[in-house]
Amino acid sequence: MTDLEELAAEALAAIERSGDEMSLETLRVHYLGRKGLLTAHLKNLGSLPAEQRPAAGQKINLAKSRLREAIETRRQTLERESLDARLQAEKIDVTLPGRRRAGGGLHPVTITLDRITRIFRAAGYEVAEGPEIEDEYHNFEALNIPLNHPARAMHDTFYVEPGTVLRTHTSPVQVHVMEQGEPPFRMICPGRVYRCDSDLTHTPMFHQVEGLLVDLEVSMSDMKGAIVSFLRAFFEEELEVRFRPSYFPFTEPSAEVDMSCVSCGGKGCRICGRTGWLEVMGCGLVHPRVLEMSKVDTNVYNGFAFGLGVERLAMLRYQVGDLRMYFENDVRFLRQFN
Ligand SMILES: [Zn+2]
Repeated sequence: MTDLEELAAEALAAIERSGDEMSLETLRVHYLGRKGLLTAHLKNLGSLPAEQRPAAGQKINLAKSRLREAIETRRQTLERESLDARLQAEKIDVTLPGRRRAGGGLHPVTITLDRITRIFRAAGYEVAEGPEIEDEYHNFEALNIPLNHPARAMHDTFYVEPGTVLRTHTSPVQVHVMEQGEPPFRMICPGRVYRCDSDLTHTPMFHQVEGLLVDLEVSMSDMKGAIVSFLRAFFEEELEVRFRPSYFPFTEPSAEVDMSCVSCGGKGCRICGRTGWLEVMGCGLVHPRVLEMSKVDTNVYNGFAFGLGVERLAMLRYQVGDLRMYFENDVRFLRQFN
C-alpha cells in the first residue's frame, strides 16, 4: 500500500507539471488506462488475503478518483491559460485611429491619352494599335521616307537589328490600317515611340497620337476644323489656333499647328517664349505617294493626317515644365493627379 501512495504522489506531481493536453492524456493512459499502473493494482487485489481486499480496493479507487479530478482540474487550467494567451496575442485596441489605405491613381500620361482618345472617339474616330518593333518599310519607306532621305537622320532611330527598328513615330500604324482595310478611314493610333534623344524636353520613349482621315474630297479646311475642335475640347478654352506652312515627307501640303498660350492667353510669357503661341502638333494632307503605296486609289480618295505628342499636351494642360518628371515615378508628383 505504500507503493500505491508513492505512485499516486508521483502521478499528481506529473499532472501538475504537464504543459498541454497531449501530455495530460498520455499521463491518464499511463496511470488510469486499461493497462495503466493503478489498474494493475486493482488486478492484484486477488492476491491479497480476503479480509484486506475491501480496504485496499477502496484506497485504490480513492487514488483513481483523485487522479481523475487532478487531471480534469489541470485540463481546465491549461485551457484557460491558452485562451488567455490567445486573447493577449490577438488583442485589438479599437480606440486606435484607423490606418488610411493609400489609393492608386492613373499616371498623368495615361489620363491624357484617355482624354485625347475620348474626344476623338466622340468625333467618330476609331482607335488602332500597332507593333512597337517595326520594320523599316513601315516606319520609313511606306511613309515616303526612302533610304538616304535626310528625315531618317532627324529621327535618331534605335535599331533592333538591320532592317528592324523601335518605331520612331505612330505613323506606321496608319500604313497597317490602310493595307488591311478599305477606305474610308477615320482613326487615331495612340502609343509609345522611341528615339535616341534625352534632355529637358526629350526622353528616349514618349507617346504620340497619330490621326488619319481618308475619304472623298477631303480638304485642308476639314483638317483645320478637326484639329481646332480637338484642341478646344482638350483645353476647354476658346483657343486661337494658327497653321504655319511646314514640311513632312508624308504630307503635302504640311503645316505646323500653334495655339494661343494657355498660360498667358497670348500676351507672351516664359512658357511660350514671349511669342504668345505654343507649337502643339504637325499635320497635312496625306501625300498621294503614301496612299498609293498602301493601295488606296488616289483618283477617288484623299485624306489628312496629324501627329501630336502626348507628354507635350500633358505638360501644357498641367503646367509641368520638366518632361522628365513624368518618368521619374516620384509618388509626390504622381499623387497630385489622383
Ligand atoms: Zn505664354
